[in-house]
Amino acid sequence: MTGQLQLAGGGGDEAKCVTCGAKAVGPCARCHAPVCGNCCELTEGGAKTWALCLTCARSGAGSLSRGWWQVVLWIAGPIVLLALLVFLLEILAR
Ligand SMILES: [Zn+2]
Ligand SMILES: [Zn+2]
Repeated sequence: MTGQLQLAGGGGDEAKCVTCGAKAVGPCARCHAPVCGNCCELTEGGAKTWALCLTCARSGAGSLSRGWWQVVLWIAGPIVLLALLVFLLEILAR
């Protein structure tokens, strides 16, 4: 009988950086690709600091304003909905 237990993957659950192939330290916040410490850029979005891969950091250079729009919509959305509700109630009350 030969030993049937063999290490199948060779302990390969270490993610590799998509940019340079080095050992990754974490996933990109946007595309979730593993990146190493040298190939990510830290972006401060609100209270949190995100690590973005270089591709996302470059393509997302103008997306900070989009992030701000999302914040504005988050705050303004419920207010507009409430205003609509009040408006409808006033019409119905007539
Ligand atoms: Zn890298
Ligand atoms: Zn990315």
